[in-house]
Amino acid sequence: MSLIDLMTMGKPNLELRKKILARISEYAPQDCFKCLRCTSGCTALKLLELKPHEIVSLVKFGFIDELITSDIIWTCATCLKCKERCPQRATPYDVIMMLRNLAVEQEAKVPEAHLKTVSQILETGLAQTEQKVITKDGKSLSREELGLPSIKYPSDMFKTVFLKAETEE
Ligand code: SF4
Ligand code: SF4
Repeated sequence: MSLIDLMTMGKPNLELRKKILARISEYAPQDCFKCLRCTSGCTALKLLELKPHEIVSLVKFGFIDELITSDIIWTCATCLKCKERCPQRATPYDVIMMLRNLAVEQEAKVPEAHLKTVSQILETGLAQTEQKVITKDGKSLSREELGLPSIKYPSDMFKTVFLKAETEE
């Protein structure tokens, strides 16, 4: 969904706005005064179709349905820079995380890569699969060949706790 679509077809959902603002009151999006410090330091600015301060503004005005059904909220790199740079408590990072949770709750489309990562963490405890290292002379070496200990995979207890955390608010 493009920025133009978001702005032209969107209608504020005031009921959802009230619910969401109450849920994230500690991140105080209403205190944002558009200084743009978040956007000017955003790691994913080139990828984000919306700028972080605009996401905060759209939530403030109730354009939440449009955000949770767009890919925009999934392009944040979760680097937390905006949280560090914000002179207020209005952090785009927390607002975006809330929107992601809401998207999952409302069964909106979640990008395949994110679902794959969650399933991989569940199976291996790692966000990325084990990778080989390529040396300067082009050799490909495994952990074993580098003398590193083998990775211990999570127990069933980890899986139970992880699944419980995933389903709790
Ligand atoms: S840094 Fe904070 S106050 Fe400034 S535009 Fe971003 S969210 Fe708003
Ligand atoms: S946490 Fe997301 S929105 Fe905030 S600066 Fe990093 S990439 Fe940008």
